[in-house]
Amino acid sequence: MPNQLPGDEKIRPEQGRQTEFTGSESFRFLCHEGLECFNRCCRDINIFLSPYDVLRLSRKLGLETGAFLKHHALRLQPEGGFPVVIIKMREDADLQCPFLTGQGCSVYNERPWSCRMAPVEIRGDNRYGFAFDSNHCRGLLETREWTVDEWMKNQGNEHYGELETGFKDIPNQLRFSGLSSLDSHIRESFFMACYDLDRFRRYVLESSFLQVFEVENPTAEKLGADDLALLQFGFHWLANGFDLRRSMEIRDEVFGK
Ligand code: SF4
Ligand code: SF4
Repeated sequence: MPNQLPGDEKIRPEQGRQTEFTGSESFRFLCHEGLECFNRCCRDINIFLSPYDVLRLSRKLGLETGAFLKHHALRLQPEGGFPVVIIKMREDADLQCPFLTGQGCSVYNERPWSCRMAPVEIRGDNRYGFAFDSNHCRGLLETREWTVDEWMKNQGNEHYGELETGFKDIPNQLRFSGLSSLDSHIRESFFMACYDLDRFRRYVLESSFLQVFEVENPTAEKLGADDLALLQFGFHWLANGFDLRRSMEIRDEVFGK
């Protein structure tokens, strides 16, 4: 390799929150234990959980989804929209993530989608940026280059899109009624089917659901044992088969009024 002469270095603009790039453009980043900021981003931050994140973390911790949501998550309700879920940070420890230990992330193999994407954030259709500045996230000063696709693959994020395709369709398909008590039922049904999968399994299997919504037998059998099949079934049901009156009757049948 020839010696590099002064002035030959590629001039690289500083990366930070102002930086934007498309999926085919590269960015520079590397996160490792040697950085002074190591684990700094695992505190005092909203980590949004997707349905698949909730399922993976629950199973990793050996909890039913309801117990996971109760002990480790907060449910937020955007005005006029559907509930979202974030990790409940520890109030007694500098708002640290409850999964952060002295050795790093204790749920690393099942860490949420947004932890895998960090420091990259999605800003629109094929538009990306950084959630941090380089004075906070020192990894942005490193020289390793990635495209977004390469980064997602490296972080094991590339299957989320396929698994959660139906989830993204729900807001366009599931309509609110305009009546608060009915809309509250619609939100609860959404929350149950998307996030509280063990409760949704009871709703489907311990009621007349399978007859009312005419689910074919091989699919019905799968729903009892296959979490991912049930998750995707729930997305499809909410977007395409949801019936307000019948869904309320089934709720009363299983969980009481
Ligand atoms: S889940 Fe792991 S990576 Fe994500 S904030 Fe918590 S400790 Fe950090
Ligand atoms: S702040 Fe950036 S470089 Fe530091 S640990 Fe977090 S993601 Fe890695």
